[in-house]
Amino acid sequence: MNHLLSIGDLDRAGIERIITQAARFAEVSDREIKKVPALRGRMVLNLFYEASTRTRSSFELAAKRLSADVVNFAASGSSVEKGESLKDTVLTLSAHKPDAIVLRTPWAGAAELVSRWCSAAIVNAGDGQHEHPTQALLDVYTLQQRLGGLDGASIWIVGDVTHSRVARSNIIAFQEMGAKVTVAGPPTLIPRRIEELGCEVRFTLDELDGADVVYALRMQRERMTETWVPSLREYASWYQINGRRLGPRQVLMHPGPVNRGVELSGDVVDSPQAVITAQVEAGVVVRMAVLYELLAGAKEPDPVARRQTAPQPA
Ligand code: ASP
Repeated sequence: MNHLLSIGDLDRAGIERIITQAARFAEVSDREIKKVPALRGRMVLNLFYEASTRTRSSFELAAKRLSADVVNFAASGSSVEKGESLKDTVLTLSAHKPDAIVLRTPWAGAAELVSRWCSAAIVNAGDGQHEHPTQALLDVYTLQQRLGGLDGASIWIVGDVTHSRVARSNIIAFQEMGAKVTVAGPPTLIPRRIEELGCEVRFTLDELDGADVVYALRMQRERMTETWVPSLREYASWYQINGRRLGPRQVLMHPGPVNRGVELSGDVVDSPQAVITAQVEAGVVVRMAVLYELLAGAKEPDPVARRQTAPQPA
C-alpha cells in the first residue's frame, strides 16, 4: 500500500493486518518507555486545514511513538491566510522531504490530488464529507476488542449521514468485516441511494433494539448551508440516543466531538456501554499501524521486539 486515501484501498485481509499490528503496538503503550525505533529518521507532516482534536493529536503521538520526526502544520496562522493554494503549500512543505503527509481538508478528493503532487505517502485524515479511513479502522479495532469480531453483528449508524465522512468509511469497513449495517435518521439527512453501499435504511428508531452496536453521528452544523431539520430539539426528540432508547447490552459509539443533549444524552455518554474513550485510545495504536505499514511495512524487522541485552559474564 502506497497511500491510505479511502477505506476501499484495503480489503478484509488488509484491515485485519492493520488491526493485528495495532494490537501489537498497544503493548508498547503500556511500557514505561512508550517508544519503538521503527520509523527513526523518517518525517511525518501533519497538514490540517480543518479543526481537529482527536485525529491530529493521535497522529502526532503515533508518529512520535514510532520515533519519527513530526512537523505540525495548521492552515490558520500560516501563509494559507495570505492566499497560498493547497498545491503551493504542499510543494513548499515537500521541500522538507516528508516521508508521509497526514492531510485533513474540507475538500472531497483533496488527499487523492495531493498524492499526485509529491512523492510522500498520503494518509487521508478526512476530506470534506467524503471519507475518514483511519476513523473506520480504529472503530473496527475498538469493536474487535469489545465483541471479539464483527461477523454477523448488527450495527446501526444513526444521525447526520449526509454530511458524515465517518459514515461513508464506516459503512464500507464494517461490512467488509462481516457486519450488517443499517443507517437511520431523518430523510433529509440520509443521502439518496446510500443503500447502494449495501446497507439498509430506516427513518425511525423503532427497530433499534435489534442492534448490537449503536453508532451515533454528530450533527455536522458547519457543513449545513441550509436548514436540514426543523430544530435541534425536534431532531433530539426523534433521534437522540438516550437511556430510553439504548438497551443494556448495546455498545454505544461516537466519533467525537459529541454534542451532548443533541445526538446523545449526557447519561448515555457517561454509561458503561459507551466506548467513546476506547475509540480515542484506539486512534493512537491504529494510526501507528497505518504509518508503520506505509513507511516500513514488511521491509523492517519486528517493530515491537525488545532489544536483546548481551548475557552478563558470571
Ligand atoms: N471527528 C470526526 C470527523 O472529523 C467526526 C465529526 O467531526 O463529527 O469527521
